[in-house]
Amino acid sequence: MCEQFETLFKKGVYLDHAATSFPKPDCVVQSINNYIVNNGASSSRGGYGRAIKADYMVYETRKWIGELFNHKKPSDIIFTSGVTESLNGIMRGILKDGDHVITSSIEHNAVWRCLKTLERDRNISITTVKTTKEGITNHKDIEDNIQRNTKLIVFNHASNVIGTIQPIREIGKIARKYSILFLLDTAQTAGILPIDMEADNIDILAFTGHKGLLGPSGTGGLIINWDGDIEEWKSGGTGGNSADPFMPEILPNKFEAGTMNMVGIAGLHASIRYLLDTGVDKICAVEKEVIGYTLEQLGAINGIQIFGTNNVDLMVGAISFTIDGIDSGKAGSWLDKRYHIMVRTGIHCAPILHKIMGTDKTGTIRIGIGYSTTKEEIDYFIYALKELLKEQLN
Ligand code: PMP
Repeated sequence: MCEQFETLFKKGVYLDHAATSFPKPDCVVQSINNYIVNNGASSSRGGYGRAIKADYMVYETRKWIGELFNHKKPSDIIFTSGVTESLNGIMRGILKDGDHVITSSIEHNAVWRCLKTLERDRNISITTVKTTKEGITNHKDIEDNIQRNTKLIVFNHASNVIGTIQPIREIGKIARKYSILFLLDTAQTAGILPIDMEADNIDILAFTGHKGLLGPSGTGGLIINWDGDIEEWKSGGTGGNSADPFMPEILPNKFEAGTMNMVGIAGLHASIRYLLDTGVDKICAVEKEVIGYTLEQLGAINGIQIFGTNNVDLMVGAISFTIDGIDSGKAGSWLDKRYHIMVRTGIHCAPILHKIMGTDKTGTIRIGIGYSTTKEEIDYFIYALKELLKEQLN
């Protein structure tokens, strides 16, 4: 082991932030601990002091999430278990027999599998708009594919495989022009890129708490800025009007049946405050610097094939590549076993994109760069990769 990297070898280098961010800020850990030890009450259920304090924590979290995405009404913010539940809930709640949906070829299975299931079970139709070779959608292609019965445009903001960012403002404009619902999956961008519900013309935003929002897993939600009818995807207790056999129509209660994930929301309460105090612009700039550095270093190695764009302005920190003649899965295991470097290999729940890239059988190696990733960690990763090439190619 090269002496320069001994500390990183001992500590391990986590390059899987596109899957989930790690470590979380200290304030997140403290907030969770404080809630469990000193509060423990359910929200919207009790009238005693601790319960009211818990209510306030939930309210404040909604308010701060609204600030982060520029949406003024806290009650439009719904908590779910993550972006998968959020996307499923909305698509299942609005799509009916005969509806048409436009989506992209770089979607995560959270969108794709849900749509395919609804195509099978409810007879909806799907148009999958292709992206350029770099992984970016031409918004004109969306407009060209609008039909009389197009009900929904659903896109991810950035790919979890190659990090490319979609032109959401233009997509949103088209959706508004034709009065079609625009649902955005921000799994890879919330807390990483500035997002503005109003300026970006987003009708419904789905977010997850455990990636760029730096909160715990099992958290996430929706921001609903749309008046159309959405059927709730679960029924149960909401803490009020309990004699009514049906779910209330008001938000957020309509979509929040059951005891809330209070431990998770305690973590999110701290992480959203942390993001607002730090500033998403700053986080974005820090990450872009490391992404650019990584692309440069990686691109200079012979035998490495990088997918997607090499324009840092058009991507977030998910970088996929293959190594000529070396199995991606084996390379990933080798990096962990030999150098304690954690990357993700496979097809990353995005089968169509991998088919287009020709990597559906072999998968790619994906590094996920986060706010805590340093250039030194990238140097170490590049060093290990060169060792891998020497060892396996000779
Ligand atoms: N969409 C995208 C683009 C993602 O990257 C992910 C997580 N890999 C999801 C949806 C699903 O997120 P979660 O598992 O947090 O619900």
